[in-house]
Amino acid sequence: MAEMDRTTARTFARGATRFAPSPTGELHLGNARTALFNYLLARHGAERFVLRIEDTDASRSRTEHTEGLLEDLRWLGLTWDAGPGREDALGPYYQSQRAAQYAQRFVELERQGAVYPCFCSALELEAARHAQRAAGRAPRYPGTCRELSEDERRRRLGAGQPATLRFRVPAGRRIEFTDLVHGAQSFLSDDIGDFVIRRADGSAAFFFSNAVDDAAMGVTQVLRGEDHLTNTPRQLLILEALGLPAPRYGHISLILGSDGAPLSKRHGAASVRQFRECGYRPEAVVNYLFRLGHSSNEHELLALDALAGAFDPQHLGRAPAHFDEQQLTVWQKHAVHRLAPEAARDWLAARLPAGLEPYTATAFCAAVLPNVVLPQDAQPWIDIVFGPAPGLAGEGADLVREAGGEFFAAAARAAADGGDFAAIAAAARAASGRKGAHLYRPLRFALTGLGHGPELGPLLRVMPAGEAARRLARFA
Ligand code: GLU
Repeated sequence: MAEMDRTTARTFARGATRFAPSPTGELHLGNARTALFNYLLARHGAERFVLRIEDTDASRSRTEHTEGLLEDLRWLGLTWDAGPGREDALGPYYQSQRAAQYAQRFVELERQGAVYPCFCSALELEAARHAQRAAGRAPRYPGTCRELSEDERRRRLGAGQPATLRFRVPAGRRIEFTDLVHGAQSFLSDDIGDFVIRRADGSAAFFFSNAVDDAAMGVTQVLRGEDHLTNTPRQLLILEALGLPAPRYGHISLILGSDGAPLSKRHGAASVRQFRECGYRPEAVVNYLFRLGHSSNEHELLALDALAGAFDPQHLGRAPAHFDEQQLTVWQKHAVHRLAPEAARDWLAARLPAGLEPYTATAFCAAVLPNVVLPQDAQPWIDIVFGPAPGLAGEGADLVREAGGEFFAAAARAAADGGDFAAIAAAARAASGRKGAHLYRPLRFALTGLGHGPELGPLLRVMPAGEAARRLARFA
């Protein structure tokens, strides 16, 4: 056996899952969850995770969408073993580059008589569908070009008449398979019309390229959206005709918005890019998606390898999953509150004032982190700590007035002497006899303009030199 063949054989023996997006838009949460589940299934079973870009429909596929989804997958941490940028003998992993592989398979099917050219125009097909619907029948291809004579086919092809290639669905068959999520499935071939596997422009249609690529890439398990469940019998027929192995399919429920409609832009942020740009943490997104339609006894924020250990396709629900932003926020809090100081600084970097010393920036981020869920929540604290002294009104102004000049004079002196917050509070206490909230709240208002917030000690340590003393001295 040649070296390449041996490697390929080993690759096949390992089994694989895959994610096969069509780059027609941004990666939305539903597809991200599909990618995650396939990734976890692969890692759980030590299988390969393949990424295949389904870009045969040139009119709808865009390079920028491909780039965007690669970036989103990397951000989520869903690294692929084979796919764009990780080509191997089973590639290429862009379907637009696999025309030669498809051509070979088309010829095989043509030789068997399993397919035929169809010359029906879009208009004729639409008219047939219309008539079937009017007669109360499910629309399917009426078989117009199925029995054309060889001569007639040759004549039309020779005359340059555009033709698709249709798969001849065998009559009277029952197609059965066990879905990983929905269990036993059974379809009658007579309910399936002959379907297009090659478009008139020569490109491979979804049913075909998707099925033959799974076989060619050694894919053994597929988790995909429920909307593909009824495509599966067609794909099984193609694989059977070609003598290719079929993967085990599992069709996962849709994600619905709070109003019960499929999650979409209408519900606000729905794409991974939007969540990333808002400052959501990838570990929050994957931990949330892990629990969306997948039940688990794991209630902690887990890293991807631990999620893989806990993933069980038996626990995938059949009912639609409901997206709940509050739940995502809960995971986001867990993720943010666990960030190491340097990671928190990187996360908030875009908002921090330019030229801030790295040490100060890190200490500031650590100080405000308990009060932050999204980066935008840090903004008020950035303004308070590094901006001009905040003014006081209402309750704050009253409390500061009541505490009195002596109180603030002592506090300001301690600050000017380089004292930390404990020293400032001790000085104010000695001067006024105040303690507890009577001591701390006037100080907090004077220093930050607010009556609540992160611990004052760490905040004061990162304030520009002399700033705490100046703020306190205003009320002396
Ligand atoms: N390109 C198809 C989609 O994005 C893939 C379906 C599948 O996973 O088989 O819906």
